[in-house]
This record gives sequence, structure tokens and C-alpha cells, in this order.
Amino acid sequence: RHQHQHQAHLHQMRGHHDPHPRSPPEPARIPGSGLQLRRRARQSAREQFSSIIQKAESDLRTLLNIPPEYSVLFLQGGATTQFAAIPLNLCKPDDKVDYLVTGSWGDKAFKEAQKFSKPKVIWSGKSEKYTKIPAFEQLEQSPDAKYLHICANETIHGVEFKTYPTPKNGLLIADMSSNFCSKPVDVSKFGIIYAGAQKNVGPSGVTIVIIRKDLIGNAQEITPVMLDFKIHDDNNSLYNTPPCYGIYMCGLVFEDLLEQGGLAGIEKKNKKKAELLYNAIDGSNGFYRCPVEKSVRSLMNVPFTLEKSELEGEFIKEAAKENMVQLKGHRSVGGMRASIYNAMPLAGVEKLVAFMKIFQAKHA
Ligand code: PMP
Repeated sequence: RHQHQHQAHLHQMRGHHDPHPRSPPEPARIPGSGLQLRRRARQSAREQFSSIIQKAESDLRTLLNIPPEYSVLFLQGGATTQFAAIPLNLCKPDDKVDYLVTGSWGDKAFKEAQKFSKPKVIWSGKSEKYTKIPAFEQLEQSPDAKYLHICANETIHGVEFKTYPTPKNGLLIADMSSNFCSKPVDVSKFGIIYAGAQKNVGPSGVTIVIIRKDLIGNAQEITPVMLDFKIHDDNNSLYNTPPCYGIYMCGLVFEDLLEQGGLAGIEKKNKKKAELLYNAIDGSNGFYRCPVEKSVRSLMNVPFTLEKSELEGEFIKEAAKENMVQLKGHRSVGGMRASIYNAMPLAGVEKLVAFMKIFQAKHA
């Protein structure tokens, strides 16, 4: 839509009334020196993009009901970059921080934090193959930890926090890369929420950071400018060339989510899709299995295995013939994984479930 408006605007600027789009455009006739023209062109691009990023931010604020004391940053480098940026911005090198490791992504975040702070894993689900989330009362949090880090949805293992722990003596920080904007979230419970855009809200390359403003401005001396939240906050995420196209796309997705009834509306749809798939797995008399504890099963990523694991290759091949692709589980866990992000319609899940029933009937 923006692009059309933009093209129409250019068209007017060029004095075009030619109905034939193939005729070559006339050069712009704007008075002024070449230098002035170039400056004006640059300013207007920045101005035009500012309105796009501001609209995207304002729609995201509406969607997540983000309180005014939080900044929204549109950054680059993926969630992986935030694994380093967060301890760099919040800690001195000797500061203690706590990590809950409920899957591979939480583990990666912890490992990166070791370079810039003194993180401790206060609970790990590794020995149970990352199928659980601990009871929060049992957690032994470090009394002097600056923050507690969680991965709100473990993309590979399909484990999702349904409620959140309260850090004893600090802040809660969540990697929401794979369930961002899939359901309402009480932002005020968190010091920082961060997410790579590519699952639910836009193209890879855009990373969104929602941060309580009082946490900005204490980065370690060695922090590169591109990782310093203050630099980006002071410049409204336009310190250097932003990922314009990606942010523009995120903005369109936010508009669409609002039109769909906001995040409560999306959550309802996501629950229906996930329920259908988990019911099919649980109702298969053990032919299909989901290893994740029922109360923490992800609405976004549904891992499952076949009792007859030798049939998994055939399952994936047969499904691909019906255009259901990317069902192979991550190489670290095997089996299958259906990622049913916001953009997956109910009909897609219905089709998978119908296929699963036919496959079972053939091989039971
Ligand atoms: N955290 C989670 C939960 C993820 O799913 C991913 C990517 N799949 C990452 C972090 C890493 O994100 P990126 O590739 O954007 O760096």
C-alpha cells in the first residue's frame, strides 16, 4: 500500500499524466542546485521512512499494550546478537545473572553471556531432553543476579512458558523469537522482551527489542555502537541504515494482526490449530508421540516422533508429495516438527492431521 502511494506521489512529482506506463519518465523538474536536490531527496527518504517505522511501532504498542515507560527498538542481527547485547548493556563483566535453560536457544543465550558477565544456569532441562519447564517455587535464584533470562518458547523442542517466574531480585528477560505476537503478553512483567522477526512478524534481519527505559544507558565500555541500546534509542532505531524493507513488512503484519482482532484473536486461532494437532498425536494409540509435558506444549512448534521410527523418512517424503514441507525435526532431536506460526491457516493443520490419519492406517 505504501509503495503504491509512493509511486503515485512520484508520478505526480514528475508531472506525469501519461496513461501509458511504458513511456520513459521525464526527469524531475525541481528548482535548486544538484547538491540541494540530493539533500532534499535524502531528507524526504528519511522522513518517509520515519513515518513507516513510527506507524509500525505504534501498531506494535497497540497490539502488545506496551506501557509508555518501554522503548521499542527495531534492530538487526537476529536474536543471536541480543544474546551478547543484553549482558553487554546490563552488566559489568563480574555481574551475576541467572539463566533458565529449557532448550537449545536458552543454552546458546547462556553460553554467549559467559563472554560478558557471570551467568549461572539455575535449572536445565537437558537431562530430560528439554521436555519440561520447572516449578518456579523450586528455583534457586542467585540473590544478587542482575536478571533472570528465559526463552519463552523453545523452537526446536516445542516447550513454551505458559506463566512466568518472578525474579527474586532483578529483572525478567525473555527471548520471544518464536512466539512473539502469537498471544497477549503482559509486557510490564519483563525488563526486556526480544525477538527475531522471522517467525511471526516479518522477514529475517529485523530484530525487535522492547526494553524498560531505565535499563538503557549503562553499556560496558567495549560495547560496539551497533549493540548499544542507548545509541539506537536516542536515534529512534535510525542510527545507521535500518532494514527498511523488513520493518515495512513488519508494519504491514502488525496492521493485519490488528485487523484480525489483535493478539487475543490470534491466540484463539493458534490454540485451535495446536489443539487439533496435539489431539491427533495423543489419540493415535501411540503411533505418533509428542515428548513434551502436556502443560507446557508450544502453540507454535509441535515436535513428534513415530513409534516405528524407521517410517519417519517415508512420512516426510510422502508429506512433501502433498506440499507439506519442512516437517523434519531439527537435526539435534530428530523426528518431526510442525511449525504452525500465525501465518499457518487452520486448513493447513487440518490437511496435516488428515494425512497423519491416512499414513497411520497404511502402516499400523
Ligand atoms: N531464539 C529462538 C527461540 C529462536 O527460535 C531463534 C531462531 N530460530 C533464535 C533465538 C536465533 O535467532 P536468529 O536466527 O534471528 O539470530
